[in-house]
Amino acid sequence: MLERLKTDFRLSIITLLGASALLGITPFAVMRFLQGELVAGGIDTAILLSISGGMIYAWVTGDTRRSGMVLAIVACFGAVMVAAVVGEVGLFWLYPCLVTTFFLVSPRIAGFLNLASILAMIGLGDVFQSDVQMWTFTATAVVVSAAAFVFAQRNDIQRHSLEHLATIDPLTGVKNRRSMDEELNLASAHAGRTGLSYALVMLDIDHFKKVNDEYGHGVGDGVLIDLATLILHSTRKSDQLFRYGGEEFVLLLPGVDGAGLTAVMNNLQHTLRKKIRHPGGAISASFGVALLKPGESVESWLERADTALYEAKEAGRDRIVFSNSMLAAEAELSVGRPELAS
Ligand code: GH3
Ligand code: MG
Ligand code: MG
Repeated sequence: MLERLKTDFRLSIITLLGASALLGITPFAVMRFLQGELVAGGIDTAILLSISGGMIYAWVTGDTRRSGMVLAIVACFGAVMVAAVVGEVGLFWLYPCLVTTFFLVSPRIAGFLNLASILAMIGLGDVFQSDVQMWTFTATAVVVSAAAFVFAQRNDIQRHSLEHLATIDPLTGVKNRRSMDEELNLASAHAGRTGLSYALVMLDIDHFKKVNDEYGHGVGDGVLIDLATLILHSTRKSDQLFRYGGEEFVLLLPGVDGAGLTAVMNNLQHTLRKKIRHPGGAISASFGVALLKPGESVESWLERADTALYEAKEAGRDRIVFSNSMLAAEAELSVGRPELAS
């Protein structure tokens, strides 16, 4: 439970805000029932139940987006209802809600909810004792919302750029090894649920050190960028390319097996040989291919692709080795010479 709170930011916010709301509102609900204000007490109870429901839903389903939206609507709608029933003192409840919405939903939706709540308060009219009070409320509520909006927007931009830094390889612009770990786990879970086939290709440029040594690091960098760009252009949108490290890349291909996969691999090998050029000529690469087996762990899957790549290097480079025997047989049919790793 603590682990989930530590790793899921939105769930921790929902829990913290939900618990604070329960603690803050419960005494008022009790007080209103004790004072015989049944409608106000009923509204408070409905708000408490909705907040509890939203929190439980988030914990059970993990769907913090939907529960965040429900909680934000409950907070704003609840504050307006309270003001409608108890009058002027109810206005104060809207201020924490105006800030809270930005923690629960995107800045644009929060801004919209806030505006709708402020207009609803003005629409109620008789909540205010004078026009000056109404305009003072409107101005302060808009200022609070605007400040929270700017802050949330800046936070969003920073979060996106941090996410980018943490998941994208700066040289080639493709995903890095950290995102690969996440995507492979997702792929393995998806394969378990749906039975969709997933192929993993590990590729390593042949004699790349020579390119660096003979033509300089800048040329080597250019080859890596060209290689990543070419693979992205020669594969499907659903395929994912990761820079595993140095001049090694991993390609994740969903929904291909058998003859389709051998055709994709032969085509990729041919395209790289033909299209990537540097002052010394062309480059070649070695490929290790592994199809995810039912119930196999991600570690074992990666290891099989790595072993197949190693065997491709050992066998003389510039070739594709299929780890699964069924694929190797398929490759034999299509090119007549299989490379089979155990
Ligand atoms: P093999 O065919 O066995 O793979 O030989 P290789 O020379 O490609 O392999 P090795 O692992 O010996 O060398 C990899 C080289 O990749 C060494 C390193 O200088 C180079 N390298 C790794 N990262 C980068 C990078 O970001 N830019 C450049 N230009 N070179 C890199
Ligand atoms: Mg290499
Ligand atoms: Mg290498």
